[in-house]
Amino acid sequence: MSARYCVIGNPIAHSKSPQIHAAFAAQTGHDLVYERCLAPLDAFDATVRGLIAQGYCGANVTVPFKLEAAALATRLAPRARAAGAVNTLVFADGEIVGDNTDGAGLVADIVRNAGVSLADKRILLLGAGGAARGALLPLLEQGPRQIVIANRTLATAERLAAGFPAHGGRLAVCGFHGLEGGFDVVVNATSASLAADLPPVPATVFGPGALALDMMYGERPTVFMDFAVRHGARARDGLGMLVEQAAEAFLLWRGVRPDTAALLASLRQA
Ligand code: NDP
Repeated sequence: MSARYCVIGNPIAHSKSPQIHAAFAAQTGHDLVYERCLAPLDAFDATVRGLIAQGYCGANVTVPFKLEAAALATRLAPRARAAGAVNTLVFADGEIVGDNTDGAGLVADIVRNAGVSLADKRILLLGAGGAARGALLPLLEQGPRQIVIANRTLATAERLAAGFPAHGGRLAVCGFHGLEGGFDVVVNATSASLAADLPPVPATVFGPGALALDMMYGERPTVFMDFAVRHGARARDGLGMLVEQAAEAFLLWRGVRPDTAALLASLRQA
């Protein structure tokens, strides 16, 4: 019987994950099915327990359940604990293991796909919500010179930075208007793009040859991407991050990391 996986969310109809994992399964020759699972807003735990009872091997978790997934897990990977959020569950040996592959996916897209090393770089992380929390530890592990977290609500950014005391010397927190100097990499992890909004950052944040990555993706470049390009940066959307976080989840479940280049190219064309 095929191994069964799914992505749990609400809403979930828009998810590209079934298409991505079907392509990975075909590429690696793994026999699996991957479906969408719409969980009622008040029944995430019951939905997961139902999947386990049906013999599912694992699941991805998306909006709005990533925090509930972290609370439900019987064991957390260090990067999931650091993020306080889970996007990948592994059901094995009676345990519900929670992991977070979003940050690793972001780093893989920047380093491998965009060809930008993060070592000794100055990084600006816009936003301090779930996506930013997932990104911070994997970004720090790349050895940047400095990461500045800028958020609309300063206290949220301060709380996020306070969770990483060992990295205090390389972490700074700021409001959007207080940003000074240019950065090598600017990551928009706010949800402003969903409303075609732009975080009010000065155009000077884009240093010479900067990479600007918006975690959002869609048919058109986001307002943030347009803004970045107008001010000399190279812009990238979140589609590569999406595919790379899926490849990391596939690795956790199946022990092999699929090649992502061909799939990413075909998704972009589509
Ligand atoms: P959250 O709701 O957890 O956090 C939202 C963040 O955006 C907060 O920091 C919030 O600031 C800030 N924000 C919201 N609106 C505005 C605005 N108008 N101007 C400035 N800042 C704003 O969302 P997530 O962290 O889960 O998601 C963030 C983005 O990342 C979304 O676009 C999502 O689609 C994308 N994403 C992409 C993934 C991928 O694989 N490509 C994976 C995960 C997320 P405040 O604290 O002040 O409220």
